[in-house]
Amino acid sequence: MKTDKQYNFNDRVALVTGGGTGIGKAITRELVRYGARVCIVSRNEEHLTAARNEISSGILTRVCDVRRPDQVSRTFDHIIGEWGRLDILVNNAAGNFIAPAADLSPGGWKVVIDIVLNGTYYCSHFAGKIMRDQKYGKILNIVATYAWTGNAGTIHSAAAKAGVVALTRTLAVEWAAWGIRTNALAPGPVNTEGARKNLWSDENSYRYLKNQVPVKRFAEESEIAHCALFLLSDQADYINGEVLVIDGGLWLNRTMFDIDTLSNMPEKNQ
Ligand code: NAP
Repeated sequence: MKTDKQYNFNDRVALVTGGGTGIGKAITRELVRYGARVCIVSRNEEHLTAARNEISSGILTRVCDVRRPDQVSRTFDHIIGEWGRLDILVNNAAGNFIAPAADLSPGGWKVVIDIVLNGTYYCSHFAGKIMRDQKYGKILNIVATYAWTGNAGTIHSAAAKAGVVALTRTLAVEWAAWGIRTNALAPGPVNTEGARKNLWSDENSYRYLKNQVPVKRFAEESEIAHCALFLLSDQADYINGEVLVIDGGLWLNRTMFDIDTLSNMPEKNQ
């Protein structure tokens, strides 16, 4: 049957953590566009209300710190009370800042591990029980390619994202028989307000990073959201435990040579 819509999320219920800003907001917008009922959570109510005003008044908003299992548990109870089910969980909430390891305090380390790794576990844990009973669920975790390369300057985030990749692959196996698919998505640099403020606030850092990306640009939030939608759709039902990289080739850019210089060199061996 031909349809003018690429995806159908009608009757699906989704929770997007950190859905009020940046990449989470872009994923929320796409889910709503294709028919899903979406609840967005984060710490700051203003972020959530602004996103709801911008996207749709049908969005459910709820202040919830993913570091707090009690708050996370109550959020899932609230969604079940409102909509009776939960089909999709996007673990997108994160904290990050630049700190060389020697200067990173134990408190700074703990905050990022708590939000990214523990928060992802708490949300997945409570969502998994609901999805198990429904025999249906999609979990998508937002990670970063430095989960496998490490990243000088953000050891807390790299370690936390590596943990989330391991969590993704573990749940993909443990929960597959319950009809749950667990995947991850690893964006390259996206110029969201949060990333700009915490990671490349000065023009030099921004330009340096942009130049490292083989396609010579940052990603649009919508490009990440489209890939998320695919992984959350039933068309991707056979993808399980995968990490989809969307980074313009950045993580592969480990060449020994300066590509720009190479292309200007005289041809010697022909
Ligand atoms: P962002 O807009 O700052 O998103 C982070 C979100 O997490 C915010 O909405 C924030 O909302 C929420 N949050 C933070 N702490 C929380 C907590 N304890 N409980 C609940 N929510 C919390 O940044 P972004 O760039 O869109 O990042 C989104 C995701 O993409 C993150 O997982 C990030 O690691 C990943 N990523 C981003 C890039 C990039 O270049 N931008 C690259 C690779 C991966 P509140 O402040 O209201 O709590």
